[in-house]
Amino acid sequence: MTDGQRELQELAREFARTELRPHAAAWDEGRALPDDVFAKLAESGFLGMLVPEEHGGLGFDLHTYLLVLEELAWGDASVALSVAIHSGPVSGMILRHGTDDQKHAWLPALASGDLLGAFALSEPDAGSDASSVTTTATRDGDGWRLDGEKRWVTNGRRAGLVLVFARTSADGLGVFLVRPGADGYVVGRRENTMGLRASETVSVRFDGLRLPADALLGDVDRGLVMALEALDVGRIGIAIQAVGVGRAAIEHAAAYALEREQFGTPIGRFGALQAKLADSALGVAAGRALAYEAALAWEATRNGTPRIGPEGVTARAAMAKLAASEAATFAADEAIQIYGGYGYMRHYPLERLMRDAKGAEIYEGTNEIMRRVIAGEILRGSGNATS
Ligand SMILES: Cc1cc2nc3c(=O)[nH]c(=O)nc-3n(C[C@H](O)[C@H](O)[C@H](O)COP(=O)(O)OP(=O)(O)OC[C@H]3O[C@@H](n4cnc5c(N)ncnc54)[C@H](O)[C@@H]3O)c2cc1C
Repeated sequence: MTDGQRELQELAREFARTELRPHAAAWDEGRALPDDVFAKLAESGFLGMLVPEEHGGLGFDLHTYLLVLEELAWGDASVALSVAIHSGPVSGMILRHGTDDQKHAWLPALASGDLLGAFALSEPDAGSDASSVTTTATRDGDGWRLDGEKRWVTNGRRAGLVLVFARTSADGLGVFLVRPGADGYVVGRRENTMGLRASETVSVRFDGLRLPADALLGDVDRGLVMALEALDVGRIGIAIQAVGVGRAAIEHAAAYALEREQFGTPIGRFGALQAKLADSALGVAAGRALAYEAALAWEATRNGTPRIGPEGVTARAAMAKLAASEAATFAADEAIQIYGGYGYMRHYPLERLMRDAKGAEIYEGTNEIMRRVIAGEILRGSGNATS
C-alpha cells in the first residue's frame, strides 16, 4: 500500500465507524437506508471511485477501490452492496462500452451521486442461466421498445439509471441505459429479504417502454459477453464486501471472548474457541488475498499487460467471491457460537452479519456457478486457474 492508500483506508474506516456502523442495526430493522447516507457517500467521493477524474470521479484503480469497499462493508453490508453495484458493473460498463456522448451524459452524474446505478439482468425464469433472458428490446422507429420483467434489482426504487439486459435477437442480448420513471417503467414488489434488509431489492416491469436510439450501450447482440465481463469486477467487489462482513464478525467475537468469563476465566482461553477464531481469520484473509490477486489480474488486462488470459481473470474473480463469501458465512456462524446464547439474540449484531454474509454466496452468480466457472477453466487446461 502507498501512503496515499493507507490514508484513504483510514478515512474510509473512520467514515464506516462513525456514519455506518452505529446505524446498521436500525437500518436493518427499518429496511431502509436514509437519503443522507448517500449524500455523505457522494460528498466523500465514494460513489465515483471507479470513474476517471475527467468525468468527475476519483479515478481509483481496483486495488484502491477495494480498500474503501471493505471498510464500507465492515460498517454496513447493505451500503457496500449498493456502492459495489453502482460502481463496478454500472459505471464500469459505461466506461468500457459507452460512446463519448454516453460517457459525458451519465458518468459525471453517477460519480457525483446525482444518480445511483442499478443492474437488471435476472428475471423470474432467468437466474444462473443469463442467456435465457426473455425481456425483449424491439426496434421502434429510430429507437427501441422494451417489454418484460426483471427481478431482484438492487438499488431498485432509488436508482436513477438502470442497465437493462434485453433480447435483441434469437441469440443476442443488448444492454440499455434506462432512466426510471417514464411511461411503461413499472416498479413492482419490494422483496422482504433475509439479510441486507436495508438494501432495496425490487422487481421492475417494462410495458412497451420506449427508448431513444442512444439508450443502447455497446454493440447490439453483445450484451451477454458484456454482462459476463462486468461481472468479473462485480464479483471482486462482492468478495471484498464479504471480507468486510467476515472481519466485523471476527472482531466482535474476539472482543467478546476476552470479556466473557466462564469457569473463572475468559472464554477466549479455551482452545475450542481459539480454533474458531483462527479458522475464521484464515478464511477471511485468504478471501482478501484472492480478491486483490483477481484485482491485479483484472487491472493488468485492462492496461494491456495481461498476466493471464481473460478467462483466467474470470476464474480468479470467481475464486475470490467463492472463498470470501463462504469464509464470511463461516466466520459469522462461528462468531454466533462464540457468543453462545447471546449470539442467537437479535439484540447483538452477529445474527445480522450472518444474514448479510449469506447473500454474497448467491448474488452476482451463485457459488455453484463460481465452482463451475473455475472448474471450466481448469478443464480448459490453460493453466490460468492453477498457476
Ligand atoms: C439480495 C439479492 C440481490 C440481488 N441483486 C441483483 C441485481 O441487482 N441484479 C440482478 O440482475 N440480479 C440480482 N440478484 C439475483 C441473483 O443474481 C440471482 O439470484 C442469482 O444469479 C441466482 O439466480 P436464481 O436465484 O434464479 O437461482 P437459479 O439459477 O434458479 O439457481 C437455483 C439453484 O440451482 C443452482 N444451479 C443453477 N444452475 C446450475 C448449474 N449449471 N450447475 C450447478 N448448480 C446450478 C444454483 O446455484 C442454485 O443453487 C440478486 C439476488 C439477491 C438474493
